[in-house]
Amino acid sequence: MEDIRFTPGLLPPEAEELRGEVRGFIAEHLKGYPGVKRAKTWAGSDPEFSKKMGAQGWIGMTWPKEVGGHGRSALERYVVLEEMLSAGAPVAAHWIADRQSGPLLMRFGTEEQRREIIPAIVRGECYFCIGMSEPNSGSDLASIRTKAERSSNGWVINGQKIWTSKAHMAHYMIALVRTSPQDPSDRHAGMSQFLIDMKKTKGITVRPIRNMAGEQMFNEVFFEDAEVPEEALLGTEGGGWGQVTTELAFERSGPERYISSFQLLFELVRALEDDPDALTKGGSAAGIGRMVAHMQTLRQMSTSIATMLERGESPNLAAAFVKELGVAYEQDMPGKVHDVLGRSPLTGGDGFDQVMGYLTMASRSFSLRGGTREIMRGMIARGLGLR
Ligand SMILES: Cc1cc2nc3c(=O)[nH]c(=O)nc-3n(C[C@H](O)[C@H](O)[C@H](O)COP(=O)(O)OP(=O)(O)OC[C@H]3O[C@@H](n4cnc5c(N)ncnc54)[C@H](O)[C@@H]3O)c2cc1C
Repeated sequence: MEDIRFTPGLLPPEAEELRGEVRGFIAEHLKGYPGVKRAKTWAGSDPEFSKKMGAQGWIGMTWPKEVGGHGRSALERYVVLEEMLSAGAPVAAHWIADRQSGPLLMRFGTEEQRREIIPAIVRGECYFCIGMSEPNSGSDLASIRTKAERSSNGWVINGQKIWTSKAHMAHYMIALVRTSPQDPSDRHAGMSQFLIDMKKTKGITVRPIRNMAGEQMFNEVFFEDAEVPEEALLGTEGGGWGQVTTELAFERSGPERYISSFQLLFELVRALEDDPDALTKGGSAAGIGRMVAHMQTLRQMSTSIATMLERGESPNLAAAFVKELGVAYEQDMPGKVHDVLGRSPLTGGDGFDQVMGYLTMASRSFSLRGGTREIMRGMIARGLGLR
């Protein structure tokens, strides 16, 4: 059974100093930015904003200076993410590269790939997408069928990915594919990761899937005899499962797992500020207080994990708890706001209605992305020795 601890973690003075700098940057660059756009948080993209963040040194913050990163602490990065997400900054363009693809590339990429790609990510000019899920292979990722076969010049890829966030903007995909047939005695064998140039590789078709909020957030990606060079194989042939698990650990432990509905809380307080009576007669104050206290508890749990990671510990089970509890919180927020205010979501309407309408639709996906609720709970149960 794995140990679960949430040692209280305080952010160091240099991280708190940085907070003021980030707030100043946001006040200047997101002045007048509408609430409904802020509500998209890490799903909203603006290439110009990504470049500005890059110029500030806020992408690749923790990566070593020798490879072009900024050599800062994970806690300083935490503060930047927390401020950007709670302000609803459009960080999606560089998000995946900064969070997981860059670290993966530094670990498994060739010298040339690192030299060419890492500085572009750090400048906020190079975006990645994640090619894991396939039709009928989501939770059961080990059942993927897209395959890469050796050719005289490298590899030829055939198959299909689905739900690929931002594939239509991405310069590269890191894809998990089969390099040998499924082996029933070891389901995790025979898969490899590939670094695929989405702009130059022939035989790739990206087809948008519109979500119910009307956005083109994710896509289907088809590979038809897509030829990639030998060095596109990332890490070891057949070692893809271990590499992908490392990637998912980056994906599941950040503040983005409880802040996604923050704009709605903000709009709720704003909607009630002109009518203080509503706060007492309708019990709204207590409702808002509960939501704020709940978020503060999640934040303390999350910063505790960030400080453990900074000390070199691996609090995987505790991180799974934060993801599961955080996602439940951000997903329940529209329902709770409805209970407090007694007002249904309307599309159109004022700032509050738009944010409420958008998050009522978007929040359905919060417990799916990055691994579903049932899968996370299964992992927690296993960690606790319950299954
Ligand atoms: C907004 C969003 C963005 C995404 N972006 C990406 C991306 O960029 N790249 C990418 O590769 N994928 C992406 N995904 C896909 C995501 O990872 C999958 O949707 C997710 O892993 C679930 O897979 P599935 O949709 O095939 O559902 P399924 O795996 O078919 O699951 C259907 C239901 O069955 C439940 N279930 C499945 N297996 C079990 C089990 N063993 N025990 C109990 N319950 C189970 C699930 O919890 C779920 O409720 C994204 C998804 C969303 C919603």
